[in-house]
Amino acid sequence: MGNIRVLDDQLANQIAAGEVVERPSSVVKELVENAIDAGSTAIDIAIEEGGLTLIRVTDNGSGIDPDDIETAFQRHATSKISSASDLFRIASLGFRGEALPSIAAVSRLTAVSSPETTGLGRRLAIEGGAVTANEPANCPQGTDMTVKDLFYNTPARLKYMKSIQTELGHISDYVNRIALAHPGIAFTLTHNGNSLLRTLGTGDRLQVIAAVYGSSAAKSMLSVEAENADFELRGFISKPELTRANRNGMTTIVNGRYIRSYALNQAIVQAYHTLLPINRFPLVVLEVGMHPSLLDVNVHPSKMEVRFSKEAELKELVEKAVREALRSERYIPGPESVS
Ligand code: ADP
Ligand code: MG
Repeated sequence: MGNIRVLDDQLANQIAAGEVVERPSSVVKELVENAIDAGSTAIDIAIEEGGLTLIRVTDNGSGIDPDDIETAFQRHATSKISSASDLFRIASLGFRGEALPSIAAVSRLTAVSSPETTGLGRRLAIEGGAVTANEPANCPQGTDMTVKDLFYNTPARLKYMKSIQTELGHISDYVNRIALAHPGIAFTLTHNGNSLLRTLGTGDRLQVIAAVYGSSAAKSMLSVEAENADFELRGFISKPELTRANRNGMTTIVNGRYIRSYALNQAIVQAYHTLLPINRFPLVVLEVGMHPSLLDVNVHPSKMEVRFSKEAELKELVEKAVREALRSERYIPGPESVS
């Protein structure tokens, strides 16, 4: 008899959680992305103690069918893709079907959801991956996910959590950026009952920039817009007078997903050329739209890094668009190009 066996689901989910759920901000990210994928126009995020005791995300999206609610927490269960070819044209933020089972494996989670305005929904409670309740519930259309006591059953991971302030910093940073990425969604973020962010969901990105960075920063932004056959760019860059000591004020968004891209940041900074003091960086919110087939988001479970199949062309367009914005305000001399 050999001694190799297939792990049971609960253990497999806990192991996957190690990758998907690094810290409280990862839970916020996964729950908020699900809310966005569900077409929500309002998303409320309530945090307590840096997310270690409570993370609650409430949305007004499509909700989960009562018959599906338990399935949603199964490993690799997703409504977003169904075939291998879908992987090459991912339009949703999620698709791996890993987030909910992973989060539920390392916390005490309650999901309340209804796809109907009739208020007839379902409440599912899971503790450390085991379902403890699945019952009818009255709730408005949408989904309410409450995650308590994150990592309560994985003491090794819990030990690695930093201070409440540090964990909150990661959460707040993520929520700010996703709000910048989705000006059409009204976001609220509260910590221990104190409001940290409120956006109106009017679609006005400058309003979100004002909410995140302050109204004087919003007044110092220049609009960027460009497109070619493959890419559509729009967003805002700061005038060269407004800079920061690091790249944290640079937010790049690709197909609605906030991503980290050294390549895009580099193209932006290069466009400013000598206008930026040494080791200073602009404030940027730049959204790039492209056909999903030009993008590989399946690089890492957090989907924060992506691969562009036409990276050089994209960098060129970004650099040109940023330079154009600076030129239109006479920061860069020379005639405006007619292209
Ligand atoms: P993925 O997002 O990769 O599909 P998840 O584990 O995050 O996987 O979610 C599993 C499924 O549960 C989703 O595909 C979706 O059908 C459903 N779901 C999760 N959260 C929500 C939500 N807030 N509103 C509606 N449906 C949701
Ligand atoms: Mg998801």
